[in-house]
Amino acid sequence: MPRCPECGGKMIYRKDLKVWVCTSCGIMLTREQLDEIREKILFESKKEEKRSKAKEYLDWWMGKEE
Ligand SMILES: [Zn+2]
Repeated sequence: MPRCPECGGKMIYRKDLKVWVCTSCGIMLTREQLDEIREKILFESKKEEKRSKAKEYLDWWMGKEE
């Protein structure tokens, strides 16, 4: 079951409307929109991961110098 990209709430599929609806905030998204958003989030989180790894390395490197 997908999570709402807005609030992280549970999403249910409305067969009659062919959309996913968030049970918390009520946002409606199609399967395509959901996939798009998920990919964007995945991409962003990968970037974040890289950034934090670089920072970790920098901290380690700076620490060694002391
Ligand atoms: Zn929501």
